Amino acid sequence: MKCRFHIITYGCQMNRYDSSTLSEYLISRGHRWVDNLDDADLIVVNTCAVRQHAENRAIGRLKSIVARKKKNHNLKIGIMGCIAQQNGEKLFEIIPQLDFVVGTDQLPVIAQIAEGKFRCGTFVNANTDFMGIDSIPSITPGQVSTFITIMRGCDNFCSYCVVPYVRGRERSLPDEKILDEIARVVDNGIKEITLLGQNVNSYRYENVDFPALLEKVAQIPGVERIRFVTNHPKDFSDKILDVLEKYPRKIPPAFHLPLQSGSADILSAMNRKYSPDEYIALIENIYRRFPHSAISTDIIVGFPGESEQDFQATLNMMKAVNFSGVFAFRYSIRPGTAAEKLHHDVPEELKIQRLNQVIRLGIQLANNFSENLVGTIQDVLVERVSYKNPGKLRCTAPSGRTVLIDENSAEIGQIVPVKITAAKTWVLWGKIIS
Ligand code: SAH
Ligand code: SF4
Repeated sequence: MKCRFHIITYGCQMNRYDSSTLSEYLISRGHRWVDNLDDADLIVVNTCAVRQHAENRAIGRLKSIVARKKKNHNLKIGIMGCIAQQNGEKLFEIIPQLDFVVGTDQLPVIAQIAEGKFRCGTFVNANTDFMGIDSIPSITPGQVSTFITIMRGCDNFCSYCVVPYVRGRERSLPDEKILDEIARVVDNGIKEITLLGQNVNSYRYENVDFPALLEKVAQIPGVERIRFVTNHPKDFSDKILDVLEKYPRKIPPAFHLPLQSGSADILSAMNRKYSPDEYIALIENIYRRFPHSAISTDIIVGFPGESEQDFQATLNMMKAVNFSGVFAFRYSIRPGTAAEKLHHDVPEELKIQRLNQVIRLGIQLANNFSENLVGTIQDVLVERVSYKNPGKLRCTAPSGRTVLIDENSAEIGQIVPVKITAAKTWVLWGKIIS
C-alpha cells in the first residue's frame, strides 16, 4: 500500500532534520509527499516540548487537523517528536481522534503505519541505539546549505530543560557515517554544512572528538563553508579555535554560545556548570584569537529565584560580550525537570517586562554588530533569489548575517567578495567587488 503524506514541523533544527530524513525515507519506500493537506492520507505533526507555548501551538494545530477525518475516513493522523515522547498514551485523552503517537527513537515505525502494518498505537519506547533514520536529508534543486546531525540526545540535564528526557542519552554518530553523508549532499550541490547536535562540543565517537571531526569535514572536497550548533560554554575547547585557524575560509568565526543568565547563583541553580567569570574568559579568548567573531546567545528570564540584581547581571553580561544576536525566552516550567520543584517566585508580568528588556538590548547589540560591518568586505555565500526583495540575491556573510546583492551579479552557490554599503538589524546590503 502506498500513501500520500504530509509532515508539519514545529521546533528546533533537529526536528526539521528528523522531518526531512523521515520524508526522504517514506519517499524511498514508494510513498508520495503532498503539499496540500486535502490530498494527504497520512498527516504527521512533529512537535516541540521545550516551552509550554510551543506545546500549545502544536496541540492546537492537531486539534484542528483531526476535524478532517470527518470528510476523509481513510485519513490517518499522528504525532511525533518531543511532545509524543513526553506524553505517550495521554495524548489519546486530549485528542481522541489521533491514530498514533511515535516518540523520538521510533521514527521508522511511521513507515510501517503508512504501509498498513499498524493501524494505530503508541510507540514511545526509548532506544539508545537509535541514530536517526538512515537516509540523507531531502535536498531540493538549487539548495546550497543543509544541516547534518552528528549527535542525538543530551546528558547535561540543565535544570530547566526537558530535552534529556524526551531525546534521551547523548550518543554520537560514527564519523565515517557523517563524512559519507556530507560527501553525498555535496554531490547534490550543497556548499554549506551546519553540524547539528544539542551540544556539538561533546561529540565523541571512539577516538574522534569534535575538533577532529570538524577538521575531517573541512577536508572533504566541495565543502565550502562549515557551521556548527549548539556549543556549550563548559565544553568549548581551544582545539576548536585551532581548527578554525587552519581553515579560515571554510569555517567562519561565528559561535552560538548560550549564556542563559549572567548571575552566578542562577547559573548554578540551572546546573550550567560554568560561572559568569568562566564565560567571560572564554569570550575574551575567542575575541583575542578572532577579533571579528560573531557570538550569539540564548537568555532565559524569570528562572526561579531570579532577583533584580541577578537580572541586571544578565544585562551587564550581554553588554560586556557584545553579542551579535540574542534569542530571549521567558522561563517555562517543564514537567519532570529538576527546576519544576523550585519555588516559582517571579510573577508572569515581571518575566514579560524582563523579556522585553532583554529583547530591546539584544536588538541594540545586533544593530551595532551590523553597522560595524558597513564599509567592510565580506565573503558571502549566494543562497537564492530573495523572496521578499525583488531583484536581489539572498546571501550569507561569514557571521551568519543575511546580505542582499543585485540579482544577476553572481551565481547561486558561489562565494563572492562583497562590500557592505548599508545595514539594518539582521540584514546587510552590498555590492560585489571585482
Ligand atoms: N541544546 C541547546 C538547545 C536547547 S533548547 C542548548 O543547550 O543551547 C534552546 C533554548 O531554549 C535553550 O538554550 C534555552 O535558552 C531555551 N529553553 C530551554 N528550556 C527552557 C525552558 N524551560 N523555559 C524557557 N526557555 C527554555
Ligand atoms: Fe537542554 Fe542543557 Fe541539554 Fe541544551 S545542554 S539540550 S539546554 S539540557
